[in-house]
Amino acid sequence: MSPTSNLRRLRQPVDAAPSVLAEHAVRSLYEEDPELYRLLAEDLHAQSNSLAMVASTTLAPPSVLACAGSALSNITAEGYPGRRFHAGCGVLDDVERIAVERAKLAFGAEYANVQPHSGSAANLAVYFGLLAPGDTILGLGLDNGGHLTHGSPVSVTGKYFTAVEYGLDGAGRIDYGRVAELAHRHQPKILVCGASAYPRELDFARFREIADEVGAILLADISHIAGLVATGEHVSPIDHAHITTTSTYKQLCGPRGGLILMGRDADAYVPGTKRTFRANLQRSVFPLAQGTPNPGSIAAKARAMQYVMSPEFHALTRRITTDASTLAAQLGDLGYRVLTGGTDNHMVLLDVLAAGMTGTVAEQALESCGILVNKNRIPWDTKPPQVASGLRLGTNTLATRGMTPADMGRCAELFDTVLGAVEPLSDTEYRLPERVRSRVAATVAELCAQFPLPGYPSVDLPEHDLVVEAS
Ligand SMILES: *Cc1c(COP(=O)(O)O)cnc(C)c1O
Repeated sequence: MSPTSNLRRLRQPVDAAPSVLAEHAVRSLYEEDPELYRLLAEDLHAQSNSLAMVASTTLAPPSVLACAGSALSNITAEGYPGRRFHAGCGVLDDVERIAVERAKLAFGAEYANVQPHSGSAANLAVYFGLLAPGDTILGLGLDNGGHLTHGSPVSVTGKYFTAVEYGLDGAGRIDYGRVAELAHRHQPKILVCGASAYPRELDFARFREIADEVGAILLADISHIAGLVATGEHVSPIDHAHITTTSTYKQLCGPRGGLILMGRDADAYVPGTKRTFRANLQRSVFPLAQGTPNPGSIAAKARAMQYVMSPEFHALTRRITTDASTLAAQLGDLGYRVLTGGTDNHMVLLDVLAAGMTGTVAEQALESCGILVNKNRIPWDTKPPQVASGLRLGTNTLATRGMTPADMGRCAELFDTVLGAVEPLSDTEYRLPERVRSRVAATVAELCAQFPLPGYPSVDLPEHDLVVEAS
């Protein structure tokens, strides 16, 4: 394949400086480090030819990647626009201001900080800025769908703070009565809502009521559902929570990174202090929790925020949720135990132990056919995290490829063909008949060819080596 000609195909003519640099960069990687080049090409080929149903995955438009890999990365820039600690930040100041303005517009927010290096880093900045070591946080437990940074004992958030966890009711929904009871008993300084594995809508207004009853600060972490929130497919926490955080690489189709957002509480005082949330958060990210920001990533966030506000992205998020509810219904019809009986967002959680195998066996068998999902512990799971009894599926990438609810039947059928043929040998070992594997893999390849990754060049990997055409 030729990276040069692929770039040419994307946009004719490519004579602007960043494009020339991108072409040159790809060619020099090939010449200077063919081993690494080959791996990156292989990965792109694999992404093009597999059916990604990993719920945290999406596809960044190539223009986002162009920003993330741009020469802006060379700039050193501690501080905020107009108040940097280094010279040479004028252009980056403009880029960061645009990123902040677009993030505020995309979410209807009063405040945005685009510097956090990840969703986890955004959460840590919030905690370190508002809590003293040993203070109490109340969050959804990891096994019930929460995130590591919501107080898990293996995370710094569970080690430096006193973490209390709430969970789910018998139907698999958040038990708000129990959240209130725990909040009154433990008087947390921060109440965290948001999840990594929870298929139902979050009631941010109810969470705020509980937080107000005990004088807690409400932090909404929308990393998984940020795209749905931006387009109104999920209720927004921006004016319910004091602070909202998110990853930018999941449903926002952006670069690796995080965002902190605030709505009506941005200029309120942090309880017990004379500092506003706005002032607190600015200092919490820099200098409290981070040094220099990642300038390329900030540019890529600006690009992603503009994409998020496009009609195309609105249509995409609608497809994501309708695909997910259709997929959940079809897997249910095929006899799978769908947790909570369905989904309100992009995520479908399944109990596969009920189908006779562990999560890891199901994940590996599906991957051997080109279908990517992830094993996931489910409430009251008896298996360790590396084994797990469940699977988490998501429709972000399927919908991005252009698949509609009408295509979910084929996906559910492929899934069922694999799991129906798996012969588990233990919690971690299995056999899958080769004729099933090759038949499903061929159908997956056909589907991927029918729904190519939009905006991405198709990559052919020749048997021997990759050839770069001279320009
Ligand atoms: C993924 C996720 C994060 C962490 O984001 P990173 O950018 O990977 O650090 C935080 N919170 C929730 C709920 C998540 O799902």
